[in-house]
Amino acid sequence: MARQSASAAPLAAKWRKLAEARCAEKGERLTPARLAVYAEMLACNRPLSAYELIALLEQRQGRKIAPLSVYRHLDFLMRNGLVHRLQSAQTYLPCDHPDHPHESQFLLCSSCGHVDEVESRGLETLLSQIADEHGFRPDDTVVEIKGVCGTCAVEDSH
Ligand SMILES: [Zn+2]
Ligand SMILES: [Zn+2]
Repeated sequence: MARQSASAAPLAAKWRKLAEARCAEKGERLTPARLAVYAEMLACNRPLSAYELIALLEQRQGRKIAPLSVYRHLDFLMRNGLVHRLQSAQTYLPCDHPDHPHESQFLLCSSCGHVDEVESRGLETLLSQIADEHGFRPDDTVVEIKGVCGTCAVEDSH
């Protein structure tokens, strides 16, 4: 049995295939180390800071990991549309729908920490119109909405 598969979080075949397809499109290779970072993020199911991620990987692999290598893997995963970075919290989370390139909007719950990724073409169009009107060329359009998620709002009202 390969040592690598023993020290990576389990990853559903669906996500693995999607990830491999996205990387192949760009002629990039999803190495076992990159895949291990991605699998750990999916297994966790909440946004993680780079340091939380490093700690989880070290725990799973039973060895020290150089932070720089994890940052490089994160850059790779973001470049290939598999992972997003939340600017306000400086955390990372796996994309909900990596099958196509997109801008994302995020709904961040301040109560339970859950983050919903949503994709609104209407909002994207509106934002690029606004930029156009100002002769502005956006590099990166990030929309993060902070508040309380549906589940927490229901619990609050009881
Ligand atoms: Zn996404
Ligand atoms: Zn919540």
